[in-house]
Amino acid sequence: MLFEPVIGLEVHAQLKTKSKIFCGCSTQFGNPPNANTCPVCTGMPGVLPVLNKQAVTFAIKAALATHCKINQESRFDRKNYFYPDLPKGYQISQFALPIAEHGYLEIDDNLSSILKIGITRIHMEEDAGKLIHDSARARSMVDLNRTGVPLIEIVSEPDLRTPQQAGAYLRKLHSILKYIDVCDCNMEQGNFRCDANISLRPLGQKAFGIRAELKNLNSFKHVEKAISYEIERQTYVLEEGRAVIQETRLWDPVKNKTHSMRGKEEAHDYRYFPDPDLVPLIVDDKWILSVEKQMPELPDEKYSRFIKEYNLEDYDAKVLTSSLELADFFEIVAQPLKDKKQAANWIITIFLGMLNSKDFSISNSPVTAIEFSKLLTLIENNKITTIVAKIVFDEMVKTKKDPEIIVKEKNLEQVSDLSELETMVLEVFSENPGEVVLYRNGKTKLFSFFMGKIMKKTQGKADPKIVTQMLKSKL
Ligand code: ADP
Ligand code: MG
Ligand code: ZN
Repeated sequence: MLFEPVIGLEVHAQLKTKSKIFCGCSTQFGNPPNANTCPVCTGMPGVLPVLNKQAVTFAIKAALATHCKINQESRFDRKNYFYPDLPKGYQISQFALPIAEHGYLEIDDNLSSILKIGITRIHMEEDAGKLIHDSARARSMVDLNRTGVPLIEIVSEPDLRTPQQAGAYLRKLHSILKYIDVCDCNMEQGNFRCDANISLRPLGQKAFGIRAELKNLNSFKHVEKAISYEIERQTYVLEEGRAVIQETRLWDPVKNKTHSMRGKEEAHDYRYFPDPDLVPLIVDDKWILSVEKQMPELPDEKYSRFIKEYNLEDYDAKVLTSSLELADFFEIVAQPLKDKKQAANWIITIFLGMLNSKDFSISNSPVTAIEFSKLLTLIENNKITTIVAKIVFDEMVKTKKDPEIIVKEKNLEQVSDLSELETMVLEVFSENPGEVVLYRNGKTKLFSFFMGKIMKKTQGKADPKIVTQMLKSKL
């Protein structure tokens, strides 16, 4: 029997406020354990939470960017569970009335046309602390620095069908939250976390099957791999005539497997009820309007503008707008150049290729946008050939030097002097008389042979346009 996967994602994004959601403690990452705590976030008796207005503004921004409807009245609830990472004995979250609902994201998995993926809801909540288990000494320690840090949880509809679509959804959401600057989105530091829900159903059946929820997915690759594994596992279970168990499973990135963590808890297990310490959250039109005014250009808008303004190919515009940092890099590089497509090409192949192979990111790249733009300006002004530009680029990566200085120091300027080039062309002819005869008898494919010889003689510095003309007229 053929099965169709059904996937829904829950993303927890940490809002980048300076202080926590219900107290004034710092959210600074990397401080000593429990340095960022106070009686409120350590759950002392008698304290009261006070909602962080900036966190709400960030949540509204995320809601607008994902086409959600904002509930002008929402509410905070207590989600009760007993575990030392939340000393109050409950997490303050939004259950019945979240801040936003009914949104969507448009994704492109490079296979189908653009897909619209529903967003069920966005709700606000506080994060829990971190437990560190020291098995050697049979003890556990708790760090409450993260307790009370503001989160939004973005819950997708079960609209995704493949691991690739899940990856595309996640990358798009990540990119949007970065664009609107409400989350650092560092998956390794855990401020952008994803749980994946997966079930299978017989192809053609409407009703969903029983799902498993995967946790511990801290990279895009892990999400895709874990979902693929889970599809295989559930297919096997169903084909054997057994039933998938509703449970929470953990992804093990070393073994490339998921394993059962616990049975699935239900909402009623948490005994949600409205938090009596907090009044309903009212977001009025004025507040929404003021956030709307702060909205920057979003990835889809930037993509359309790049195609219109810079005349880029669809693929190039997609790659360049995939992250705000890269889009900004491109605009700085392209600004003084006439040939914007050339800028796009060089960034996507040469610059991104370098970042990839050397494991750099744009922020710690040895070559800045300004320097890269200077390099391309040298090509555009016929100061260096493209062959030489690649050599100069490698040198820039190594030494962080200015491309103009490298060209001067290494004497790499393009040779455009007519008589100098003519001498060389004639030299090449006299060194390769057989090829000249063959060419003249119709073997015009040899053109690149002559070109190669001249480039070799000049270490790639000969002006290719002049040499092409010269070869054509002399041959
Ligand atoms: P919970 O809070 O218990 O995890 P929700 O009902 O909020 O449950 O759903 C969480 C996620 O699971 C959502 O993203 C939703 O799209 C997805 N989901 C729900 N049912 C299924 C299913 N049968 N198969 C796959 N995903 C599902
Ligand atoms: Mg869940
Ligand atoms: Zn505190």
